[in-house]
Amino acid sequence: MSGRVNLKALSREDLFRFILERGLPRFRAEQLLHWVYERYVADISGVTEFSKKLRDDLGAVAYLSCPEVAQRLTSRDGTEKFLFRLEDGETIESVLIPDDKRLTLCISSQAGCAMGCEFCLTGSHGLKRNLQAYEIVDQVLSVNRMIRMTEKGRGVTNIVLMGMGEPLANLDAVAEALRRITGLLGISKRRITLSTSGLAPKLAELASKAPDVNLAVSLNASTDEVRSRIMPVNRKYPLRTLLDACRKFPLGPMRRITFEYVLIGGLNDSESDARRLVGLVKGIRCKINLIPFNPHPGSAFTRPSEERVLAFQKVLVKHDLAALIRESKGQDILAACGQLRAAQP
Ligand code: SAH
Ligand code: SF4
Repeated sequence: MSGRVNLKALSREDLFRFILERGLPRFRAEQLLHWVYERYVADISGVTEFSKKLRDDLGAVAYLSCPEVAQRLTSRDGTEKFLFRLEDGETIESVLIPDDKRLTLCISSQAGCAMGCEFCLTGSHGLKRNLQAYEIVDQVLSVNRMIRMTEKGRGVTNIVLMGMGEPLANLDAVAEALRRITGLLGISKRRITLSTSGLAPKLAELASKAPDVNLAVSLNASTDEVRSRIMPVNRKYPLRTLLDACRKFPLGPMRRITFEYVLIGGLNDSESDARRLVGLVKGIRCKINLIPFNPHPGSAFTRPSEERVLAFQKVLVKHDLAALIRESKGQDILAACGQLRAAQP
């Protein structure tokens, strides 16, 4: 690929510039955008609206990145996990979660993650590198291309940035990716959710750089003591700082912040934890997603019993909090929350 320009690495504006600089008319850029973002073409030679000569000429100076699908696994519950190999050999995972009405794709924002949360498999391997905007978008394009080959018409409808990585630690690339996903792929902001482990100062920046996407915050504990033990980020931005930043986060009408709470047996799953959680989120328009811990090889934590999960939920509901138990899908293929990782060396 050396020397050639990856057209997917260009923003919309830069793509127009690139086309005009080559003496081509503007509509060629429009056509390319259509083929890349609406027809999910894998390479320039597939843009059959262009003459063979034009494809060859463009192909001499440019190309379209297309991550290799190194593995594709289907879970018993219909969830699918894709392992993508990027141009430099790094690997990332995306998870496709179908339900009656939606086709949700959980995408990665980094290869690995630097945040080091104790309960998360992604975190236990450290950060490899940030993803570029196009590498974030490519996950959606590639999955749409694959779906199109098998099931006509239906593409990804919802995006959750809950795969590998801390999206707010790579905010500029994430914001650019979201601009392309909304502007070029046509997925509405209401159907996009970004989940953060709690980089408090970045919340205001998120609101200005990617306004109106849904915010999810991984709380996972009701005291600083426990949270700092399992989420090192809490030592820098403790609960109070994080929740203050959440209170200031601009929410559109009818919008709520989602607080995720991974329930870990004997650690953060008592009824007193639930009561403290009620106090913490007081005054914030929110809902709580309870995620029973998903075990993975090498982890010392356990998943609480169903009774404990229900008892925890009951306390929240009694205090008028919307609290859903989110059974992670795809556990048999390690596709559930916190089970994503790069390929084994
Ligand atoms: N880095 C971001 C988004 C990716 S993690 C974040 O931390 O929010 C997505 C969600 O999975 C987070 O809410 C996280 O707390 C949760 N999670 C991580 N490991 C888990 C595990 N082993 N079981 C259940 N949920 C887990
Ligand atoms: Fe990173 Fe999120 Fe995993 Fe924490 S839970 S290590 S922030 S991916």
